[in-house]
Amino acid sequence: MAKVTFREDRCKGCELCTTVCPKHIVQMAKDRLNKKGFHPAEVVKQEECIGCAFCATICPDAVIEVEK
Ligand code: SF4
Ligand code: SF4
Repeated sequence: MAKVTFREDRCKGCELCTTVCPKHIVQMAKDRLNKKGFHPAEVVKQEECIGCAFCATICPDAVIEVEK
C-alpha cells in the first residue's frame, strides 16, 4: 500500500489532484481550512491507493508526496 502525504498549508484548493486519481480517493476536505484559507486536498481511502503518483505529478505547488 502506498502512503500519500500532503503539505496541507501549501494547498491552494485548485482541485486538479482530485481529477486525475484513477481510484477517485482524492477529495477536498470540506470540514476544514488551511492557513491560506482553502479547503485542502486529502486522501479519503488510503488503503485503496495504488501509488501511481498522478496526484503528486499534477499538483502545481508540490503539496503531495507519494511513498511506495
Ligand atoms: S497515488 Fe494515484 S491512486 Fe494514490 S491517491 Fe494519488 S492519484 Fe490516487
Ligand atoms: S493539486 Fe495541489 S494545490 Fe491543487 S488541490 Fe491538489 S494538493 Fe491542492
